[in-house]
Amino acid sequence: MKCTFFDHFLNLLYPESCLVCGANLIQHEEVLCLKCLYEMPKTNYHLLSENPAERRFLGKAPIKFVTALFFFRKGSSFRKVLHELKYNGRKDVGVILGKYAAFDLLHIPAIASVDYIVPIPLHPKKLKKRTYNQSEQIAIGLSSVLGTQIDTKNLIRIHNNTSQTSKSASERYKNTEGIFRTIDKEFFKHKHILLVDDVLTTGATLEACIKALLQTENITISIFTLAVTE
Ligand SMILES: [Zn+2]
Repeated sequence: MKCTFFDHFLNLLYPESCLVCGANLIQHEEVLCLKCLYEMPKTNYHLLSENPAERRFLGKAPIKFVTALFFFRKGSSFRKVLHELKYNGRKDVGVILGKYAAFDLLHIPAIASVDYIVPIPLHPKKLKKRTYNQSEQIAIGLSSVLGTQIDTKNLIRIHNNTSQTSKSASERYKNTEGIFRTIDKEFFKHKHILLVDDVLTTGATLEACIKALLQTENITISIFTLAVTE
């Protein structure tokens, strides 16, 4: 949020623009203009007793709750949100949209019982290259509204798997086997973890994370992603 005289001055010279439609942002608008915020293809999965994202994990992993902020659709200008967050250094996008999402989740009982928000870790090499973990930025936004602590220490990525995009579902699954592990198997014991990722597609990466987390006894796992494919 802009607050200093200098920021106001800069904004007059170089107004920030809406990531989706390109319109100049006015005061109190961040990342998206009000119109785009209103038109965002939200899933509202948190309002359903069960949803298609949860069904993706049925029979594969015991999950309490799965939700996502918006649909990741072909040709949608909202795809740009993820692109900027992941590949264009716009880590603010993750924080701001994480906050937006958190306001919807604030009164959901399953979310109220979360002990730790855990962003899907990047491999240290990738983190060094990108300089930030996009999922952690989303977690920061969620945490600032929900007041739930973030843990980035106990779940780690031990292998840097190659790009998933060109692989089939079964190849993706194989490609993610054994890439995560927890440092301390007791740390998440009796805890409810909200795993955070940028986008849910096949769920292979999340499943690999869940497998690692299930080494811990009596752990409860929920999932939040910024976007989800239909
Ligand atoms: Zn807009």
